Amino acid sequence: MPQFSPLPKSSQPLEKGLHKDGRRLTPQRLRVLHLFEDLGSGRHLSAEDVHHKLVESNTKVSLATVYRTLRLLVEMGFLHQLELSENGHRFELANDDHPDHHHLVCIRCGRTEEFECDEVLEAGKLAAERIGFQLVESTLNVRAICPSCTPK
Ligand SMILES: [Zn+2]
Ligand SMILES: [Zn+2]
Repeated sequence: MPQFSPLPKSSQPLEKGLHKDGRRLTPQRLRVLHLFEDLGSGRHLSAEDVHHKLVESNTKVSLATVYRTLRLLVEMGFLHQLELSENGHRFELANDDHPDHHHLVCIRCGRTEEFECDEVLEAGKLAAERIGFQLVESTLNVRAICPSCTPK
């Protein structure tokens, strides 16, 4: 049996990830994953955010290791990587309870809001069908400037 405590909410991605290629969740990977679990769905963190939170909780880890861990958790299917702003990637929990959604992101400060839109999903589906592609996901990332970053 894998040596980690059961995670109630995202047991599905957890199993998916483990079965995908048999890679182990080391304590450090698990700690990063728990961080996302504790925050819940719909939170979008940069590698710097994750690093900061780990250091705050007295976990000694370098930013480079955090990057590597995040990339691995994405490959294993636990996290989604979002390419939202100029200042780097954001990561969020890959969760079946939190299905296809879209992002409105401030290109200045990185504030990220989620929204749902069936029309976007439908447009993606139609386009894929028309061209004969097999649909994986339809996600719209809208780049914008939030009220706090708008010059008065
Ligand atoms: Zn999101
Ligand atoms: Zn902003």
